[in-house]
Amino acid sequence: MSDRLIVVIGGGISGLTVAWRLRELGVRAEVFEADEIVGGLAGTVRPEDGRYCLDFGPHFFITQKPEIVARVDDLLRDSVIKFKRSAQLYVRGRFLDYPLSARNVLFNFPPLDALRSVLSFAYAQVLQLGRKLAGRQRPAPDFGEWSGRQFGTHLTNIFFKPYTENFWKLPCAQLAPDVLPASTRLNFMKSLKLLFMRGVKGNVQSLIERELVLPLRYPVRGYGMLAEGVAERVRTHGGVVHVGARVAGVERLPGGR
Ligand SMILES: Cc1cc2nc3c(=O)[nH]c(=O)nc-3n(C[C@H](O)[C@H](O)[C@H](O)COP(=O)(O)OP(=O)(O)OC[C@H]3O[C@@H](n4cnc5c(N)ncnc54)[C@H](O)[C@@H]3O)c2cc1C
Repeated sequence: MSDRLIVVIGGGISGLTVAWRLRELGVRAEVFEADEIVGGLAGTVRPEDGRYCLDFGPHFFITQKPEIVARVDDLLRDSVIKFKRSAQLYVRGRFLDYPLSARNVLFNFPPLDALRSVLSFAYAQVLQLGRKLAGRQRPAPDFGEWSGRQFGTHLTNIFFKPYTENFWKLPCAQLAPDVLPASTRLNFMKSLKLLFMRGVKGNVQSLIERELVLPLRYPVRGYGMLAEGVAERVRTHGGVVHVGARVAGVERLPGGR
């Protein structure tokens, strides 16, 4: 065990995790947190009567790394719920998944809309390919044009255009091509691939993709349980976590320490 004491300023998730790791390595560590609760931006406020838990930062936890999952499971034990993201949009009298998937278009749209969507989507893809082969690809000037090229005019008119205009309160012709959330673009294209190319394999890469396929984890008494659990580990490993302890300044000792 080293004699050196490491002082960690801030009991957010970073400071606490550093202190936990230091204690595991046998280094003395002490955390000073200005607030009365730990967690920083990833904390949870709970009134004394316990009526609710208010997260003011992230609201679910997701990772592909088994060692992190193991640590979090160990921290939270049975106090974590797992769920799949589920959001729906009400379009033309039906509920559709958000982000929109190709399965929705084919099986949840009224049959005529489904057929027109597929045909105009296929037509848009052929046009895109033709432009590419002819070396005449030009960036789309606005969102409406971009969406028409990506998804076809029918899907654009019945879904992407009204959804986007409603969200931004501006006509599509005044919106930049990249205003559509990446998750929507990605989910549609990916689900289309999965529907028609069952053999497509690949590593799950982006956060957006992970949110769509991996279970999300949520600590039952709020996200702050993660930081509280880490603080507890620091203490059980012999470290100290002070709350309500604002560090007013850092002084350099003679010799540079
Ligand atoms: C609404 C929202 C949603 C978010 N969603 C996500 C998400 O989905 N995914 C993701 O990865 N991240 C997300 N984040 C960001 C994530 O919460 C932060 O990046 C992370 O919590 C930062 O942790 P930290 O410990 O580095 O800093 P902080 O949480 O800022 O902790 C710093 C701590 O230092 C303390 N402190 C400051 N000065 C002093 C001092 N002088 N003395 C003592 N203590 C001091 C503060 O009180 C604070 O507790 C989100 C944040 C917000 C607000």
